Amino acid sequence: MIPGRNGFERYPVGATLELEADVCVIGGGAGGASVACALAEAGMTVVLMEEGRNWKPQQFQPTASWAFKHLYAGRGTRATRGNCVIPLAGGRGVGGSTLINSAICFRTPEPVLADWRGNHGCVHFDSAWMGACFDRIWQTIGVTVNPPEVQRENNRIFKQGADALGLKGEWMARSAPGCGGCGTCNQGCPTGGKLTVDRSFLQLALDTGRVGVYADCRVDGVETRGDRVVAVTGRTIEPGAYTPSGSFRVRADRFVLCGGAVGSPRFLMANGLAAGLVGEHLRIHPTAYALGRFEQEIVPWHGVTQGFYVDRWEQGFLMQTFSMPPDQYYLSIPFGGDDALAVMRDLRHYASAGVVVHDEDSVGRVGSSELVYWLGELDKRRLLAGVRDVARVYFAAGATEVIAGVHGVPVLRSVADIDRLIVDDVPAVELGLYASHPMGTCRMGADPERSVVDPQGKVWGMGNLYVADASVFPSSLGVNPQVTVMALGLTIGREIARAG
Ligand SMILES: Cc1cc2nc3c(=O)[nH]c(=O)nc-3n(C[C@H](O)[C@H](O)[C@H](O)COP(=O)(O)OP(=O)(O)OC[C@H]3O[C@@H](n4cnc5c(N)ncnc54)[C@H](O)[C@@H]3O)c2cc1C
Repeated sequence: MIPGRNGFERYPVGATLELEADVCVIGGGAGGASVACALAEAGMTVVLMEEGRNWKPQQFQPTASWAFKHLYAGRGTRATRGNCVIPLAGGRGVGGSTLINSAICFRTPEPVLADWRGNHGCVHFDSAWMGACFDRIWQTIGVTVNPPEVQRENNRIFKQGADALGLKGEWMARSAPGCGGCGTCNQGCPTGGKLTVDRSFLQLALDTGRVGVYADCRVDGVETRGDRVVAVTGRTIEPGAYTPSGSFRVRADRFVLCGGAVGSPRFLMANGLAAGLVGEHLRIHPTAYALGRFEQEIVPWHGVTQGFYVDRWEQGFLMQTFSMPPDQYYLSIPFGGDDALAVMRDLRHYASAGVVVHDEDSVGRVGSSELVYWLGELDKRRLLAGVRDVARVYFAAGATEVIAGVHGVPVLRSVADIDRLIVDDVPAVELGLYASHPMGTCRMGADPERSVVDPQGKVWGMGNLYVADASVFPSSLGVNPQVTVMALGLTIGREIARAG
């Protein structure tokens, strides 16, 4: 094993890497980096294999097309299908989805933890331990609230409307202590102001001198003996062309799969390592949106990418501001032709906010090649209720009109239009939807009939194979998940180290 960061440049074309460590971690996102850190700090040697690149902040380019090609799983084309089509964003690279996330940080809500303990037997998620994890995470990824001058108008105008309506809202806590408000979190933070896990948890792991990170290495196969994995194998990838250049084999005592809620179940399925519920229970926090037009300039692509939220937990959703590069705004306009071009010419005057729903009656599944998600009637109604609330907030802040992200709904010109034009019986397929929080597809639990991994994160029926990423969530979370994934990584890392 070569400790430190290794990438394509260091692998001779056609060579076979032979690596060995106490633990092999597959995937370098929020789960992979935090579990590697916990294991290395417990004295174990770790090899971490990541299929994407090892990026430096200065390499990121602030356009959607560049980011989709280099930083997004499936080059940005990943989507679920069912009664609607939902783009399902995910990251690819050392840092995983944290490379492209908006840095929003929420502690796992206590009612969710109580459900995981009480109804799924996840006894390790007790409040005292989780509190210690959250404190560690807050410190490691530099969680803070960015000051108003970097929030800028897209966030400030939403706060103004929420305050006018007396809604419970707050600036978002974010893992971006050096944020300058350039609004390009989802294309990779070019200044390093966002503390992604490759530059926080993984750096702490590397500092122990016991960790080797191998970028541009996709793990495909396993060698097993009885119920134990002996080695994993795969290809080194030439990152520009996406072509295989050589191969590798990693031997270890234990293996931790951290490929995310799409990658991990697919890996288990492809290698026949888990049966039953693997891939089932896909949850995604479906998200709808609305745009508000104001007389004054907003310039929605400037400022903190997602800075302010309103908590509607009782109604099953959160409202969160968001911004995107202008080319992506074009795709969000629910009509075409000259009307859409007129909005684009006027885009500096628009503000944007989304509605994140805590999935309840939707049903999803990760298959070997397809992603299926059927938006439930209850979830659809809550998305529409949220879009109506966003419209109310914008009118309260002085919007002259609101574009609801629902196909067929005319532009809203007044508060009176909201309930008249956004009605519940619109088919799911008409909602403009988006998601970036896949979870739950290798869910954790004490009952092997209802789960894929046990409460320590070990795959049922396997002696030394664990999963530590968003796939092990026993249920939909209801808040942005990166902190919960990191807490899971720390917890599963502790359990592996304790098992000796
Ligand atoms: C655009 C976007 C915005 C988001 N914003 C926020 C936010 O503001 N706040 C928040 O809390 N959450 C946010 N999230 C979600 C959050 O980032 C994820 O929930 C979290 O990173 C998931 O962690 P993970 O370890 O499960 O997977 P990931 O972080 O996605 O990491 C999985 C890694 O595994 C690698 N991999 C997969 N298969 C293999 C294989 N076979 N071999 C080698 N490597 C493999 C992938 O390339 C990837 O790098 C956002 C996500 C996206 C996509």
